[in-house]
Amino acid sequence: MNGICFFCDEAKTVRQNRKIGELICSACYQREIKPKEVCTICECKEPAKTRNKQGGAICAACYQRDRRAKLRATLQASRSA
Ligand SMILES: [Zn+2]
Ligand SMILES: [Zn+2]
Repeated sequence: MNGICFFCDEAKTVRQNRKIGELICSACYQREIKPKEVCTICECKEPAKTRNKQGGAICAACYQRDRRAKLRATLQASRSA
């Protein structure tokens, strides 16, 4: 739904957060609400974007890097085939 975000005061797509009872956009949710975990790859403290097979947290930056690496490998494989 559209509304004014409690944290950034901008009109955007927001969700009511049950924990604090306010409308929050997804960017502020990531920054302010989501629990931070230590990334298993770079060891920064960020909200987990995804998890590895062991359930360890992986931050958004490492997730992107991993996706790019996989895509590159796929492209290279298809080129040399
Ligand atoms: Zn916001
Ligand atoms: Zn990381």
